[in-house]
Amino acid sequence: MHTANEPSFRQSVDMMFNRAASMMELPPGLKEKIRVCNATYTVRFGVRLRGELHTFTGYRSVHSEHMEPVKGGIRYAMAVNQDEVEALAALMTFKCALVEAPFGGSKGGLCVDPRAWEPHELEQITRRFAYELIKRDLIHPAQNVPAPDMGTGEREMAWIADQFRRMNTTDINSAACVTGKPPHAGGIQGRTEATGRGVQYALQEFFRHAEDMKKAGLDGSLEGKRVIVQGLGNVGYHAAKFLSEEDGALVTGVIERDGATINEQGLNIELLKLHIAETGGVRGFEGGAFVENGAEVLEYSCDILVPAALEGVINMTNAARIKAPLIIEAANGPVTAGADEILRKAGCVIIPDMYANAGGVTVSYFEWVKNLSHIRFGRMQRRQEEARHLILVNELERLSASTDVKWTLSDDFKAKYLRGAGELELVRSGLDDTMRGAYQAMREVWHQRQDVEDLRVAAYLVSIGRVAHAYQSKGL
Ligand code: GLU
Repeated sequence: MHTANEPSFRQSVDMMFNRAASMMELPPGLKEKIRVCNATYTVRFGVRLRGELHTFTGYRSVHSEHMEPVKGGIRYAMAVNQDEVEALAALMTFKCALVEAPFGGSKGGLCVDPRAWEPHELEQITRRFAYELIKRDLIHPAQNVPAPDMGTGEREMAWIADQFRRMNTTDINSAACVTGKPPHAGGIQGRTEATGRGVQYALQEFFRHAEDMKKAGLDGSLEGKRVIVQGLGNVGYHAAKFLSEEDGALVTGVIERDGATINEQGLNIELLKLHIAETGGVRGFEGGAFVENGAEVLEYSCDILVPAALEGVINMTNAARIKAPLIIEAANGPVTAGADEILRKAGCVIIPDMYANAGGVTVSYFEWVKNLSHIRFGRMQRRQEEARHLILVNELERLSASTDVKWTLSDDFKAKYLRGAGELELVRSGLDDTMRGAYQAMREVWHQRQDVEDLRVAAYLVSIGRVAHAYQSKGL
Protein backbone atom coordinates (compact mmCIF):
# COMPACT_ATOMS: atom_id res chain seq x y z
CA MET A 1 0.00 0.00 0.00
CA HIS A 2 2.86 2.39 0.82
CA THR A 3 5.38 3.80 -1.64
CA ALA A 4 9.07 3.12 -1.14
CA ASN A 5 9.80 6.60 0.18
CA GLU A 6 6.91 6.53 2.65
CA PRO A 7 8.31 6.82 6.17
CA SER A 8 7.38 4.25 8.82
CA PHE A 9 4.70 5.12 11.39
CA ARG A 10 7.31 6.03 13.98
CA GLN A 11 9.28 8.12 11.49
CA SER A 12 6.03 9.84 10.54
CA VAL A 13 5.35 10.77 14.16
CA ASP A 14 8.96 11.96 14.54
CA MET A 15 8.67 14.11 11.41
CA MET A 16 5.46 15.68 12.67
CA PHE A 17 7.07 16.28 16.06
CA ASN A 18 10.18 17.83 14.46
CA ARG A 19 8.12 20.16 12.28
CA ALA A 20 6.49 21.59 15.41
CA ALA A 21 9.62 21.48 17.60
CA SER A 22 11.56 23.52 15.00
CA MET A 23 9.06 26.33 15.58
CA MET A 24 9.67 26.36 19.34
CA GLU A 25 12.22 28.17 21.48
CA LEU A 26 13.40 25.21 23.54
CA PRO A 27 16.91 23.98 24.33
CA PRO A 28 17.78 21.36 21.65
CA GLY A 29 18.63 18.84 24.38
CA LEU A 30 15.15 19.14 25.84
CA LYS A 31 13.52 18.70 22.43
CA GLU A 32 15.48 15.51 21.95
CA LYS A 33 14.56 14.30 25.46
CA ILE A 34 10.87 14.87 24.72
CA ARG A 35 11.01 13.22 21.29
CA VAL A 36 12.72 9.96 22.17
CA CYS A 37 10.98 6.94 23.60
CA ASN A 38 12.32 6.25 27.12
CA ALA A 39 12.15 2.46 27.07
CA THR A 40 10.51 -0.47 25.35
CA TYR A 41 10.20 -3.81 27.04
CA THR A 42 9.88 -6.86 24.82
CA VAL A 43 8.65 -10.12 26.26
CA ARG A 44 8.38 -13.58 24.73
CA PHE A 45 6.37 -16.06 26.72
CA GLY A 46 4.97 -19.51 26.17
CA VAL A 47 1.42 -20.71 26.76
CA ARG A 48 0.36 -24.34 26.43
CA LEU A 49 -2.76 -24.37 24.24
CA ARG A 50 -4.41 -27.16 22.25
CA GLY A 51 -1.74 -29.58 23.43
CA GLU A 52 1.17 -27.49 22.16
CA LEU A 53 3.43 -24.75 23.51
CA HIS A 54 2.85 -21.46 21.68
CA THR A 55 5.26 -18.54 21.98
CA PHE A 56 3.86 -15.02 21.93
CA THR A 57 5.73 -11.71 21.58
CA GLY A 58 4.51 -8.63 23.42
CA TYR A 59 5.69 -5.08 24.06
CA ARG A 60 5.13 -2.31 26.56
CA SER A 61 6.73 0.93 25.57
CA VAL A 62 7.09 3.95 27.83
CA HIS A 63 7.58 7.12 25.85
CA SER A 64 7.65 9.80 28.53
CA GLU A 65 7.55 9.75 32.32
CA HIS A 66 7.28 13.50 32.87
CA MET A 67 4.09 12.52 34.71
CA GLU A 68 3.25 9.19 36.30
CA PRO A 69 1.50 6.88 35.94
CA VAL A 70 2.07 6.55 32.23
CA LYS A 71 -0.99 5.64 30.21
CA GLY A 72 -1.96 3.95 26.98
CA GLY A 73 -3.80 0.99 25.54
CA ILE A 74 -2.78 -2.59 24.78
CA ARG A 75 -3.33 -3.69 21.19
CA TYR A 76 -3.86 -7.26 20.00
CA ALA A 77 -2.99 -7.77 16.33
CA MET A 78 -0.62 -9.87 14.28
CA ALA A 79 0.97 -6.73 12.81
CA VAL A 80 2.04 -5.36 16.22
CA ASN A 81 5.73 -4.45 16.22
CA GLN A 82 8.15 -2.30 18.19
CA ASP A 83 8.10 0.59 15.72
CA GLU A 84 4.31 0.79 15.90
CA VAL A 85 4.12 0.49 19.69
CA GLU A 86 6.71 3.25 20.11
CA ALA A 87 4.89 5.57 17.70
CA LEU A 88 1.62 4.95 19.56
CA ALA A 89 3.32 5.55 22.93
CA ALA A 90 4.63 8.90 21.69
CA LEU A 91 1.15 9.89 20.54
CA MET A 92 -0.14 9.02 24.02
CA THR A 93 2.30 11.48 25.61
CA PHE A 94 1.07 14.33 23.42
CA LYS A 95 -2.59 13.27 23.62
CA CYS A 96 -2.57 13.26 27.43
CA ALA A 97 -0.82 16.63 27.54
CA LEU A 98 -3.32 18.16 25.11
CA VAL A 99 -6.41 17.06 27.07
CA GLU A 100 -4.72 17.66 30.43
CA ALA A 101 -4.94 14.06 31.59
CA PRO A 102 -2.14 13.90 34.19
CA PHE A 103 -0.23 11.01 32.63
CA GLY A 104 2.91 10.25 30.69
CA GLY A 105 2.63 8.25 27.47
CA SER A 106 2.86 4.50 27.05
CA LYS A 107 1.49 1.75 24.80
CA GLY A 108 1.49 -2.00 24.64
CA GLY A 109 0.94 -4.62 22.04
CA LEU A 110 0.77 -8.37 21.65
CA CYS A 111 1.30 -10.22 18.38
CA VAL A 112 -1.82 -12.34 18.41
CA ASP A 113 -4.87 -12.70 16.21
CA PRO A 114 -7.73 -12.50 18.73
CA ARG A 115 -10.09 -14.15 16.23
CA ALA A 116 -7.92 -17.26 16.10
CA TRP A 117 -8.44 -18.19 19.76
CA GLU A 118 -11.36 -19.19 21.98
CA PRO A 119 -12.23 -16.87 24.90
CA HIS A 120 -10.74 -19.24 27.51
CA GLU A 121 -7.51 -19.41 25.49
CA LEU A 122 -7.38 -15.65 25.13
CA GLU A 123 -7.84 -15.40 28.88
CA GLN A 124 -4.81 -17.65 29.46
CA ILE A 125 -2.73 -15.60 26.99
CA THR A 126 -3.86 -12.29 28.50
CA ARG A 127 -3.21 -13.37 32.09
CA ARG A 128 0.25 -14.59 31.17
CA PHE A 129 1.11 -11.36 29.33
CA ALA A 130 -0.29 -9.34 32.26
CA TYR A 131 1.78 -11.43 34.71
CA GLU A 132 4.97 -10.56 32.80
CA LEU A 133 4.13 -6.85 32.82
CA ILE A 134 2.87 -6.73 36.42
CA LYS A 135 5.99 -8.29 37.88
CA ARG A 136 8.05 -5.49 36.26
CA ASP A 137 5.64 -2.73 37.40
CA LEU A 138 4.67 -2.16 33.77
CA ILE A 139 1.10 -2.51 34.99
CA HIS A 140 0.62 -0.61 38.24
CA PRO A 141 -1.93 1.96 39.52
CA ALA A 142 0.82 4.50 40.27
CA GLN A 143 3.20 3.70 37.44
CA ASN A 144 1.65 2.32 34.30
CA VAL A 145 -2.06 2.00 33.59
CA PRO A 146 -3.09 0.21 30.37
CA ALA A 147 -6.48 0.38 28.66
CA PRO A 148 -8.18 -1.16 25.63
CA ASP A 149 -7.03 -0.56 22.08
CA MET A 150 -7.50 -2.39 18.78
CA GLY A 151 -8.38 -6.04 19.40
CA THR A 152 -8.97 -5.63 23.14
CA GLY A 153 -11.92 -4.44 25.21
CA GLU A 154 -13.64 -4.63 28.58
CA ARG A 155 -13.19 -8.37 28.85
CA GLU A 156 -9.39 -8.29 28.54
CA MET A 157 -9.19 -5.36 30.98
CA ALA A 158 -11.23 -7.31 33.56
CA TRP A 159 -8.78 -10.25 33.25
CA ILE A 160 -5.81 -7.91 33.66
CA ALA A 161 -7.35 -6.25 36.75
CA ASP A 162 -8.07 -9.65 38.28
CA GLN A 163 -4.54 -10.84 37.55
CA PHE A 164 -3.12 -7.74 39.26
CA ARG A 165 -5.38 -8.32 42.28
CA ARG A 166 -4.19 -11.94 42.58
CA MET A 167 -0.58 -10.77 42.60
CA ASN A 168 -1.20 -7.78 44.94
CA THR A 169 -3.81 -9.04 47.35
CA THR A 170 -3.41 -6.20 49.87
CA ASP A 171 -3.32 -3.27 47.46
CA ILE A 172 -6.48 -1.28 48.10
CA ASN A 173 -6.00 0.62 44.82
CA SER A 174 -5.59 -2.44 42.64
CA ALA A 175 -8.66 -1.61 40.48
CA ALA A 176 -6.83 1.51 39.25
CA CYS A 177 -4.11 -0.64 37.60
CA VAL A 178 -6.03 -0.68 34.32
CA THR A 179 -8.94 1.28 32.80
CA GLY A 180 -11.67 0.33 30.36
CA LYS A 181 -12.98 -2.36 32.73
CA PRO A 182 -16.66 -3.34 32.57
CA PRO A 183 -18.85 -1.12 34.81
CA HIS A 184 -19.67 -4.12 37.03
CA ALA A 185 -15.97 -4.79 37.58
CA GLY A 186 -14.70 -1.37 38.62
CA GLY A 187 -15.25 0.38 35.29
CA ILE A 188 -17.12 3.59 34.58
CA GLN A 189 -20.26 4.32 32.58
CA GLY A 190 -19.54 5.69 29.13
CA ARG A 191 -15.97 4.37 28.71
CA THR A 192 -16.79 2.06 25.80
CA GLU A 193 -18.46 4.82 23.79
CA ALA A 194 -15.91 7.44 24.91
CA THR A 195 -13.59 7.62 21.90
CA GLY A 196 -16.49 7.80 19.41
CA ARG A 197 -18.29 10.27 21.66
CA GLY A 198 -15.10 12.37 21.75
CA VAL A 199 -15.01 12.40 17.92
CA GLN A 200 -18.60 13.70 17.96
CA TYR A 201 -17.79 16.40 20.55
CA ALA A 202 -14.69 17.40 18.57
CA LEU A 203 -16.76 17.87 15.41
CA GLN A 204 -19.48 19.74 17.29
CA GLU A 205 -16.82 22.11 18.61
CA PHE A 206 -15.28 22.56 15.15
CA PHE A 207 -18.71 23.43 13.76
CA ARG A 208 -19.16 26.14 16.42
CA HIS A 209 -16.47 28.22 14.69
CA ALA A 210 -17.46 29.73 11.34
CA GLU A 211 -13.88 30.87 10.74
CA ASP A 212 -12.56 27.31 11.10
CA MET A 213 -15.29 25.84 8.92
CA LYS A 214 -14.42 28.39 6.27
CA LYS A 215 -10.85 27.10 6.14
CA ALA A 216 -12.34 23.77 5.03
CA GLY A 217 -14.83 25.48 2.72
CA LEU A 218 -17.73 24.31 4.90
CA ASP A 219 -20.55 26.17 6.59
CA GLY A 220 -23.75 25.54 8.55
CA SER A 221 -23.94 22.72 11.05
CA LEU A 222 -23.37 18.97 11.14
CA GLU A 223 -26.98 18.48 9.96
CA GLY A 224 -26.98 16.98 6.48
CA LYS A 225 -23.18 16.79 6.21
CA ARG A 226 -22.02 13.74 4.23
CA VAL A 227 -19.66 11.57 6.24
CA ILE A 228 -17.56 8.59 5.16
CA VAL A 229 -16.30 6.35 7.96
CA GLN A 230 -13.49 3.85 7.59
CA GLY A 231 -13.78 1.01 10.08
CA LEU A 232 -16.92 0.26 12.07
CA GLY A 233 -15.08 -0.99 15.15
CA ASN A 234 -15.69 0.48 18.58
CA VAL A 235 -14.55 4.01 17.63
CA GLY A 236 -16.01 4.20 14.11
CA TYR A 237 -19.31 2.64 15.15
CA HIS A 238 -19.96 5.04 18.03
CA ALA A 239 -18.84 8.09 16.05
CA ALA A 240 -21.06 7.13 13.07
CA LYS A 241 -24.00 6.30 15.33
CA PHE A 242 -23.91 9.56 17.33
CA LEU A 243 -23.24 11.78 14.30
CA SER A 244 -26.13 10.28 12.35
CA GLU A 245 -28.65 9.71 15.16
CA GLU A 246 -28.00 12.86 17.21
CA ASP A 247 -26.50 15.48 14.89
CA GLY A 248 -28.40 14.67 11.69
CA ALA A 249 -25.26 13.96 9.65
CA LEU A 250 -25.58 11.49 6.75
CA VAL A 251 -23.15 8.61 6.87
CA THR A 252 -22.90 8.07 3.11
CA GLY A 253 -20.19 5.42 3.18
CA VAL A 254 -18.72 2.84 5.53
CA ILE A 255 -15.52 1.02 4.62
CA GLU A 256 -14.85 -2.33 6.26
CA ARG A 257 -12.47 -5.26 5.82
CA ASP A 258 -14.39 -6.89 2.94
CA GLY A 259 -15.31 -3.74 1.00
CA ALA A 260 -17.56 -0.74 1.47
CA THR A 261 -21.24 0.09 1.47
CA ILE A 262 -22.52 3.44 0.23
CA ASN A 263 -25.83 5.28 0.30
CA GLU A 264 -26.19 9.00 -0.49
CA GLN A 265 -29.37 9.12 1.65
CA GLY A 266 -27.41 7.99 4.69
CA LEU A 267 -26.78 4.50 6.05
CA ASN A 268 -28.61 3.13 9.09
CA ILE A 269 -25.66 2.43 11.38
CA GLU A 270 -27.51 0.15 13.81
CA LEU A 271 -28.78 -2.10 10.98
CA LEU A 272 -25.36 -2.10 9.34
CA LYS A 273 -23.64 -3.06 12.59
CA LEU A 274 -26.11 -5.91 13.01
CA HIS A 275 -25.42 -7.08 9.45
CA ILE A 276 -21.65 -7.04 10.08
CA ALA A 277 -22.11 -9.00 13.32
CA GLU A 278 -24.20 -11.63 11.50
CA THR A 279 -22.25 -11.97 8.24
CA GLY A 280 -18.76 -10.73 9.11
CA GLY A 281 -18.79 -7.90 6.56
CA VAL A 282 -20.72 -5.20 4.71
CA ARG A 283 -21.33 -7.26 1.54
CA GLY A 284 -25.01 -7.97 1.03
CA PHE A 285 -26.24 -5.11 3.27
CA GLU A 286 -29.60 -4.09 1.88
CA GLY A 287 -29.42 -0.49 3.07
CA GLY A 288 -26.48 0.39 0.80
CA ALA A 289 -24.68 -0.46 -2.44
CA PHE A 290 -21.63 -2.71 -2.13
CA VAL A 291 -18.25 -1.52 -3.43
CA GLU A 292 -15.71 -4.31 -3.74
CA ASN A 293 -12.62 -2.07 -3.53
CA GLY A 294 -13.25 -0.44 -0.17
CA ALA A 295 -10.09 1.69 -0.16
CA GLU A 296 -11.40 3.53 -3.22
CA VAL A 297 -14.31 4.91 -1.15
CA LEU A 298 -11.80 6.97 0.88
CA GLU A 299 -11.50 9.01 -2.32
CA TYR A 300 -15.24 9.55 -2.81
CA SER A 301 -16.74 12.98 -2.46
CA CYS A 302 -18.02 13.81 1.06
CA ASP A 303 -17.84 16.63 3.60
CA ILE A 304 -16.10 14.75 6.41
CA LEU A 305 -13.82 11.73 6.20
CA VAL A 306 -13.42 9.72 9.40
CA PRO A 307 -10.58 7.18 9.24
CA ALA A 308 -11.28 5.07 12.34
CA ALA A 309 -9.23 1.95 11.71
CA LEU A 310 -5.53 1.49 11.04
CA GLU A 311 -2.55 3.80 10.73
CA GLY A 312 -1.23 4.85 7.33
CA VAL A 313 -4.44 4.35 5.32
CA ILE A 314 -4.11 7.80 3.81
CA ASN A 315 -0.62 7.84 2.38
CA MET A 316 1.37 9.12 -0.56
CA THR A 317 -0.35 6.71 -2.96
CA ASN A 318 -3.86 8.08 -2.45
CA ALA A 319 -3.56 11.47 -0.70
CA ALA A 320 -3.77 13.50 -3.92
CA ARG A 321 -7.09 11.87 -4.79
CA ILE A 322 -8.80 12.50 -1.42
CA LYS A 323 -11.74 14.87 -1.96
CA ALA A 324 -12.92 15.41 1.61
CA PRO A 325 -12.29 19.01 2.72
CA LEU A 326 -12.25 17.89 6.37
CA ILE A 327 -10.61 14.78 7.84
CA ILE A 328 -10.99 13.84 11.50
CA GLU A 329 -8.43 11.26 12.61
CA ALA A 330 -10.46 8.92 14.82
CA ALA A 331 -7.68 6.31 14.53
CA ASN A 332 -4.09 6.87 15.60
CA GLY A 333 -1.84 7.92 12.72
CA PRO A 334 -4.21 7.27 9.78
CA VAL A 335 -2.50 10.00 7.70
CA THR A 336 1.22 9.59 7.03
CA ALA A 337 3.57 12.58 7.22
CA GLY A 338 3.89 12.56 3.42
CA ALA A 339 0.12 12.50 2.90
CA ASP A 340 -0.29 15.19 5.54
CA GLU A 341 1.86 17.54 3.48
CA ILE A 342 -0.01 16.81 0.23
CA LEU A 343 -3.39 17.36 1.91
CA ARG A 344 -2.26 20.50 3.70
CA LYS A 345 -1.12 22.03 0.43
CA ALA A 346 -4.46 21.11 -1.13
CA GLY A 347 -6.29 23.05 1.61
CA CYS A 348 -7.77 20.06 3.43
CA VAL A 349 -8.31 20.63 7.16
CA ILE A 350 -7.20 17.72 9.35
CA ILE A 351 -8.37 17.44 12.96
CA PRO A 352 -5.39 15.49 14.32
CA ASP A 353 -5.51 12.13 16.11
CA MET A 354 -3.96 13.31 19.37
CA TYR A 355 -7.00 15.55 19.81
CA ALA A 356 -9.71 13.74 17.83
CA ASN A 357 -9.42 10.37 19.55
CA ALA A 358 -8.50 11.62 23.03
CA GLY A 359 -12.00 10.84 24.35
CA GLY A 360 -10.90 7.33 25.32
CA VAL A 361 -8.03 8.36 27.55
CA THR A 362 -10.06 11.24 28.97
CA VAL A 363 -12.73 8.88 30.28
CA SER A 364 -9.98 6.47 31.34
CA TYR A 365 -8.72 9.31 33.52
CA PHE A 366 -12.18 9.63 35.10
CA GLU A 367 -12.26 5.87 35.69
CA TRP A 368 -8.82 5.92 37.34
CA VAL A 369 -9.91 8.78 39.62
CA LYS A 370 -13.11 6.88 40.46
CA ASN A 371 -11.09 3.77 41.35
CA LEU A 372 -8.74 5.73 43.58
CA SER A 373 -11.59 7.53 45.33
CA HIS A 374 -13.58 4.30 45.69
CA ILE A 375 -16.88 6.03 45.00
CA ARG A 376 -19.08 6.43 41.95
CA PHE A 377 -19.37 9.95 40.51
CA GLY A 378 -22.61 11.63 41.54
CA ARG A 379 -23.35 9.30 44.44
CA MET A 380 -23.19 12.06 47.06
CA GLN A 381 -24.76 14.94 45.11
CA ARG A 382 -27.44 13.50 42.86
CA ARG A 383 -30.47 13.43 45.17
CA GLN A 384 -29.47 16.66 46.87
CA GLU A 385 -29.32 18.36 43.47
CA GLU A 386 -32.77 16.95 42.64
CA ALA A 387 -34.19 18.19 45.96
CA ARG A 388 -32.89 21.72 45.32
CA HIS A 389 -34.35 21.78 41.84
CA LEU A 390 -37.67 20.61 43.24
CA ILE A 391 -37.72 23.54 45.69
CA LEU A 392 -37.35 25.94 42.74
CA VAL A 393 -40.05 24.25 40.65
CA ASN A 394 -42.48 24.22 43.61
CA GLU A 395 -41.80 27.88 44.29
CA LEU A 396 -42.33 28.88 40.65
CA GLU A 397 -45.62 26.99 40.59
CA ARG A 398 -46.71 28.61 43.84
CA LEU A 399 -45.91 32.07 42.42
CA SER A 400 -47.80 31.35 39.22
CA ALA A 401 -50.84 30.24 41.24
CA SER A 402 -50.77 33.50 43.18
CA THR A 403 -50.73 35.87 40.16
CA ASP A 404 -53.25 36.65 37.43
CA VAL A 405 -50.88 35.75 34.61
CA LYS A 406 -51.28 31.98 34.33
CA TRP A 407 -48.43 29.89 33.08
CA THR A 408 -47.25 26.36 33.71
CA LEU A 409 -44.00 24.49 33.43
CA SER A 410 -44.22 21.72 30.83
CA ASP A 411 -43.93 18.13 32.05
CA ASP A 412 -41.00 17.59 29.71
CA PHE A 413 -39.12 20.57 31.19
CA LYS A 414 -39.85 19.40 34.72
CA ALA A 415 -38.74 15.85 34.04
CA LYS A 416 -35.44 17.03 32.53
CA TYR A 417 -34.80 19.77 35.09
CA LEU A 418 -35.62 17.64 38.09
CA ARG A 419 -33.35 14.76 37.13
CA GLY A 420 -30.01 14.96 38.95
CA ALA A 421 -26.94 13.92 36.98
CA GLY A 422 -25.87 10.28 37.26
CA GLU A 423 -22.45 8.90 36.41
CA LEU A 424 -23.06 8.71 32.65
CA GLU A 425 -24.24 12.34 32.43
CA LEU A 426 -21.26 13.48 34.48
CA VAL A 427 -18.81 11.50 32.35
CA ARG A 428 -20.28 12.98 29.16
CA SER A 429 -20.21 16.47 30.61
CA GLY A 430 -16.56 16.08 31.69
CA LEU A 431 -15.66 14.71 28.26
CA ASP A 432 -17.47 17.50 26.40
CA ASP A 433 -15.75 20.11 28.54
CA THR A 434 -12.36 18.49 27.93
CA MET A 435 -12.86 18.32 24.15
CA ARG A 436 -13.97 21.95 24.02
CA GLY A 437 -11.08 23.13 26.19
CA ALA A 438 -8.44 21.25 24.21
CA TYR A 439 -9.85 22.55 20.92
CA GLN A 440 -9.70 26.12 22.21
CA ALA A 441 -6.06 25.66 23.19
CA MET A 442 -5.18 24.33 19.71
CA ARG A 443 -7.24 26.89 17.85
CA GLU A 444 -5.70 29.82 19.70
CA VAL A 445 -2.27 28.81 18.43
CA TRP A 446 -3.66 28.06 14.96
CA HIS A 447 -5.15 31.52 14.59
CA GLN A 448 -2.66 33.61 16.52
CA ARG A 449 0.59 32.41 15.01
CA GLN A 450 1.14 33.38 11.37
CA ASP A 451 3.55 30.46 10.87
CA VAL A 452 1.07 27.81 12.05
CA GLU A 453 -0.74 26.45 9.02
CA ASP A 454 -2.63 23.54 10.49
CA LEU A 455 -4.24 22.07 13.58
CA ARG A 456 -1.69 19.26 13.84
CA VAL A 457 1.22 21.62 14.34
CA ALA A 458 -0.94 23.67 16.71
CA ALA A 459 -1.72 20.52 18.73
CA TYR A 460 1.96 19.56 18.91
CA LEU A 461 2.95 23.09 19.93
CA VAL A 462 0.48 23.04 22.82
CA SER A 463 1.38 19.58 24.03
CA ILE A 464 5.17 19.79 23.57
CA GLY A 465 5.01 23.09 25.48
CA ARG A 466 3.20 21.43 28.37
CA VAL A 467 5.56 18.44 28.47
CA ALA A 468 8.54 20.82 28.35
CA HIS A 469 7.13 22.74 31.30
CA ALA A 470 6.72 19.54 33.30
CA TYR A 471 10.35 18.55 32.58
CA GLN A 472 11.65 22.02 33.35
CA SER A 473 9.87 22.16 36.68
CA LYS A 474 11.58 18.87 37.54
CA GLY A 475 14.88 20.65 36.96
CA LEU A 476 15.73 18.98 33.64
N1 GLU B 1 -6.08 3.07 23.45
C1 GLU B 1 -6.69 4.36 23.61
C2 GLU B 1 -5.86 5.43 22.93
O1 GLU B 1 -5.13 5.17 22.03
C3 GLU B 1 -7.04 4.65 25.03
C4 GLU B 1 -5.88 4.77 25.97
C5 GLU B 1 -6.28 4.88 27.44
O2 GLU B 1 -7.47 4.97 27.72
O3 GLU B 1 -5.37 4.87 28.26
O4 GLU B 1 -5.96 6.58 23.22
